[in-house]
Amino acid sequence: MNVNQQPHMASPYGQPQPGYQGYPQSGYGGQHVPGGYPAPYAPYNGPASAYQPGPPQGMRGPPTSGAPPVSAAQAYSQFGQGDIQNGPPPLGAPPQRPPVSQPYSQGAMNLSGPQPPYNQQFGAPPTSMQQMTTQMASMQVGSTVPSPAGPGYAPPTVSQPSVSAAYTPSAPSSFAPTSTVPTQPPSTEGTPQPYYGAPPQQPFPTAAPPFSAPGPTQPPGPPLASQQTFPQAPPPSQPPFSSAPPQVPPASYGGPPPPVQASHPRAAPPTSQPAAFPGGPPPTSTPTQYTGPPMQQPPVSQPSSFHSGPPPPPTSAAGFPPQGGAPPRPPHPGIQGPPLASQGPPMSQANHVAPPQPGMLAGPPVPGMAGPPPQPGMQGYPPQQNGAFGQVRGPQPGYAGPYPGQQSYGAAPPAQAPAPPAPKRLDPDSIPSPIQVIEDDKANKGSEPFVTGVRGQAPPLVTTNFHVKDQGNASPRFIRCTAYNIPCTSDMAKQSQVPLAAVIKPLATLPPDENSPYIVDHGESGPIRCNRCKAYMCPYMQFIEGGRRFQCGFCSCVTEVPPHYFQHLDHTGKRVDCYDRPELSLGSYEFLATVDYCKNNKIPQPPAFIFLIDVSYNAVKNGMVRIVCQELKTLLDYLPRENPDVQSNIRVGFATYNKVLHFYNVKASLAQPQMMVVSDVADMFVPLLDGFLVNVSESRVVIESLLDQIPDMFADTRETETVFGPVIQAGLEALKAADCAGKLFVFHTSLPIAEAPGKLKNREDKKLVGTDKEKSLFQPQVSFYANLAKECVAQGCCVDLFLFPNQYVDVATLGVVPTSTGGSVYKYTYFQAQSDQERFLNDLRKDIQKKVGFDAVMRVRTSTGIRATDFFGSFYMSNTTDVELAGLDCDKTVTVEFRHDDKLSEETGALMQCAVLYTSCSGQRRLRIHNMAVNCCAQLADLYRNCETDTIINFFAKYAYRCVLNNPTKNVRDSLVNQCAQILACYRKNCASPSSAGQLILPECMKLLPVYLNCVLKSDVLHPGADVSLDDRAYLRQLVSAMDVAESHVFFYPRLLPVHKLDVECDTLPVAIRDSEERLSKGGIYLLETGLNLFLWVGANAQQELLQNIFGTPAFGQIDSNMTSLPILDNPYSKRVREIVESFRAQRSRYMKLMVVKQEDKLELIFKHFLVEDKNNSGGASYVDFLCHMHKEIRQLLS
Ligand SMILES: [Zn+2]
Repeated sequence: MNVNQQPHMASPYGQPQPGYQGYPQSGYGGQHVPGGYPAPYAPYNGPASAYQPGPPQGMRGPPTSGAPPVSAAQAYSQFGQGDIQNGPPPLGAPPQRPPVSQPYSQGAMNLSGPQPPYNQQFGAPPTSMQQMTTQMASMQVGSTVPSPAGPGYAPPTVSQPSVSAAYTPSAPSSFAPTSTVPTQPPSTEGTPQPYYGAPPQQPFPTAAPPFSAPGPTQPPGPPLASQQTFPQAPPPSQPPFSSAPPQVPPASYGGPPPPVQASHPRAAPPTSQPAAFPGGPPPTSTPTQYTGPPMQQPPVSQPSSFHSGPPPPPTSAAGFPPQGGAPPRPPHPGIQGPPLASQGPPMSQANHVAPPQPGMLAGPPVPGMAGPPPQPGMQGYPPQQNGAFGQVRGPQPGYAGPYPGQQSYGAAPPAQAPAPPAPKRLDPDSIPSPIQVIEDDKANKGSEPFVTGVRGQAPPLVTTNFHVKDQGNASPRFIRCTAYNIPCTSDMAKQSQVPLAAVIKPLATLPPDENSPYIVDHGESGPIRCNRCKAYMCPYMQFIEGGRRFQCGFCSCVTEVPPHYFQHLDHTGKRVDCYDRPELSLGSYEFLATVDYCKNNKIPQPPAFIFLIDVSYNAVKNGMVRIVCQELKTLLDYLPRENPDVQSNIRVGFATYNKVLHFYNVKASLAQPQMMVVSDVADMFVPLLDGFLVNVSESRVVIESLLDQIPDMFADTRETETVFGPVIQAGLEALKAADCAGKLFVFHTSLPIAEAPGKLKNREDKKLVGTDKEKSLFQPQVSFYANLAKECVAQGCCVDLFLFPNQYVDVATLGVVPTSTGGSVYKYTYFQAQSDQERFLNDLRKDIQKKVGFDAVMRVRTSTGIRATDFFGSFYMSNTTDVELAGLDCDKTVTVEFRHDDKLSEETGALMQCAVLYTSCSGQRRLRIHNMAVNCCAQLADLYRNCETDTIINFFAKYAYRCVLNNPTKNVRDSLVNQCAQILACYRKNCASPSSAGQLILPECMKLLPVYLNCVLKSDVLHPGADVSLDDRAYLRQLVSAMDVAESHVFFYPRLLPVHKLDVECDTLPVAIRDSEERLSKGGIYLLETGLNLFLWVGANAQQELLQNIFGTPAFGQIDSNMTSLPILDNPYSKRVREIVESFRAQRSRYMKLMVVKQEDKLELIFKHFLVEDKNNSGGASYVDFLCHMHKEIRQLLS
């Protein structure tokens, strides 16, 4: 076993972490003496005596066997039957599961039948790289003579690890899955550790989820009170979403006329609501009513975009009084912001939007929203600013405020006092506000730790800061689900159309105060697993027969407990060492893998990093070559390592290229590096075996010499052509020769048109955009790269691509290898050293240093009744169940969709276990396990009450972005709209309280579904403006496919912070505002971040003092809009703003370059593109218009 051979195996995971109270790490291998574990902690088999706080004292005797008896475990040889997964690769058994590519919904969403993800295209046999003799010129970089290379070198054959084992989901049907959940109370003996002290049954509570209790339709008491809290929008005359427009025939609104809101009475805040959390009554159950969408007749004139309208009143930006966070805000008459979080019952109501006006109903059905701006149905809206709509409706009834408590359940809402005349258009304040939802969640869930032991509970939103306590289910930082209560039957699931998926980030970085998963060693026989389904030991296994056997929570099969793992049970049936063992009490942990889990049954070599630098004319000219070489000299000291005290085990290698490749021998014994040129790129091979991959510490001098020389060597190059395929092949061959996994860092500038495998042609054709042939632009133009990617995955060769294009480079094709190998693509269009190097260097530093695993295989097992059917992300699949990632870093997510196989039980819930087998950066083979249990519900209302819109949007975006490979974008948009309409219609029909058919009623947890969906529909991938390049679209498409929920959230709905409201005296940020131009004040300064971009928008009337403090000049006209960083000024304001910029950057995986945008400046167009609640230039609908459109779609479904 390799365990003892790894000196620092346990670090960082095993080290005691401050935050983990009471769980002394040592027991889990934390202490490692060089060479192995200290005796006391021999492999974790025994009861870990070290855990003091833990378990009941009497029972944890010393481990029955210090060292795991190897023999015992044999019974379940992990891979015995070939149905192993993660483990050593057995050959592929016939996959019984449906192809991964199934359309995820059978309903209307089915765009076009099975859609093979493009990663499946690698059907073709890998091209075998044969070595060939080539003309290879050997030239010397330094003074020494190049060593011979070439011809004689036999390239390693492609060894293809059989990674894929077919998994037979044979669940014993006869086995009624009894609830294996320990329902007993926590063992009384022993002092429970703070951390583990949680009630034992938590991991699998069989009880009904706390949230499900109240029926959705019950009018929550509190909400009513809060109803008035809605700040009344100004436009009195226009009933934006007023519930009952006076002139409308009552019939159309089923209920009583919408209440007119009086001045915003801040009624008693519903104090009781939010309490819901850990177990409290579900706040979410009461429907909130929104005043319906405007039902106006189609405006005669097309609604003008918000931008074009008259400038919003300066005060509108002030919409939200900067609230530090929560306290009820004082009633500001003029303020239209949404009510404070604390005022209304945030989550408690369903949202009813007021009944549509007759006119609207009459409108012709709008086929896809996506169309050009003016949509037939949409025009119903009051044109925003131009006041064109002739028929001004009478006084607008107060729009029923959606927010917090707005409730009008049909009942008569408080009458609203006539407001001052306002522009005729819907009041955006009357529709669900993302900011309000975000702030409410912070107020309600940000203060208490989120404990994972309560099954079926949705975690705080990604925008809320919270602390997680692992009590048996994976932290939301690792797994977020679209729904935490999934329907018991397939029929219910189809009816609701709510996607059932999990967004999994297996190696997510945790905040400093949360522990990384502990490492568990089950000895030479490897991790304990279920005999049948091979699930790994976890809290869902129930020990029976006095502890001699355990029943699998996934397949119900009973397996013998190997002697070395035996432990007695307490009176509740729980193992007495339960809290001593991460795998019995936690949602996430790691197992040390044995040699059986290694490729070819060999302990892996430490991985290698190979840097491949384009040295063609463009690369030299734009400064990239010099910057990369300079930076690498420093970065090599920061290669990933698991223990900060030791040097990285990662070896490095260097090559440069244009249309030929140059390899460098940097062996420590050389006085100067040597270059070897391979000009026959038709069949790439690596000309030197020894000296290409070296240890940094040993070869530092030679490497530095090389990096100093490269920029000069090619300074005068005139070569403009490049190759690309052979570059990756070269890196791949080098890894094969070294018999290791690793990562290639390719720095590339142009379309590879030089004669070579993988040569591309310029196929950029914007005329195809919007046509049925548009999809071809997202597909790779040649199959070469898909085949190459397959070979890379087999070798554990991950590729990160840094692009510096000045024109079309065909990202759709060049990105195939990176996105199939778990790699990343970075793009710096029109790269200029001066303005872009900061961004590039920060990305490079982060990319090189981040935690990464290699040669990974991920398998998701589920309990009987559901199964993983589809996967999204940057990986490769050679069968239907194993997600293969040549590299897996801490930022990558894999999204998994589930479908029903059978009826699920409310009692047992549904379980999933994600196991990722990977090689750590030190070369240790490990299995990271994440367990997740969710509730199963027989009532649709429970589904709608426990879902997470941000995750649903993440899933929809990935699904849609994959669909564009095979479908016209319009069809993709239409089907997204249709599916969301079905989701909301199903809620309306089955869960909402009876009310007027004309009311738009949104489930509380999904009230932002329309606004976020609209952002996805308007995104550059699905609905590009004329100025969006094909490369940008392909790039974004690939990028989003591996995003986690936090990244996709800010990407689709950017964060917009009113900097001028900053209180430099306190640490809290001002409350963000909605992404709409009308929220901006000419006197303000705003910071907008998307995860990729960062803008600082400066209003033309911004205070001089503010400008002086931030920019060092009091004159708006003198602000340099070319600056990419703020001047460092000695005043608290400057300091605080710069800190905020840095903190935003620190939260994202990619560095965001700062752009200063002055109001009315030409750059403002770019900035406005991110004001996603507004109509955009390419035809994307405004939020208000889209909501009305959704309402219409829903009504059609209901009628
Ligand atoms: Zn099993």
